[in-house]
Amino acid sequence: MNGDIRTALYVVNRYWSTHWRQYFPGYHYPPYVLGAYGGGIRSAPFCGNRRVSYDNAVYCPYGHYIAWDITLMADGYRSGDAWVYLIIAHEWAHAVQNRIPARYVLRAKELQADCLAGAALFGAAADDTLLFEDGDIAELRAALRRLADDTPWTDSGDHGNARQRVNAFTRGANHGVYGCLP
Ligand SMILES: [Zn+2]
Repeated sequence: MNGDIRTALYVVNRYWSTHWRQYFPGYHYPPYVLGAYGGGIRSAPFCGNRRVSYDNAVYCPYGHYIAWDITLMADGYRSGDAWVYLIIAHEWAHAVQNRIPARYVLRAKELQADCLAGAALFGAAADDTLLFEDGDIAELRAALRRLADDTPWTDSGDHGNARQRVNAFTRGANHGVYGCLP
């Protein structure tokens, strides 16, 4: 799993570093990778003055870092390696949202992050930095369904239900970054 996490970080960073200027002003400023917490490794980090929650993964705008509970990673990884690629691409997408002009950020921030995750992973595959294996696409959809809310998106903090999350990711996969912007 740690090898897949390292590969996911490399691939997603490389995608955004290479393609940033096609879509956005400025340059790609990668988030700091704080990495794993929980599972006896270390306590959940603080984001501002609040500790981030366990069994979760986060992008924290204060400190511009991404981190994940190792238990969440390991639980999902048991059903397939695509899980860690999705989590990392999604949290990295929040870092992207934080660095682009506000006019590009949708109110449905979580669904946009799924879309940008799809754009980055499939964009990396088009660049030949990531090679999808048999079953990866099904695993990605299953992971999105598992991480989805039970109710449809109504509020900016919502993740959206399973259908909405799969649709958002697929839009990014099929149409790239432009498919995720207003
Ligand atoms: Zn999110």
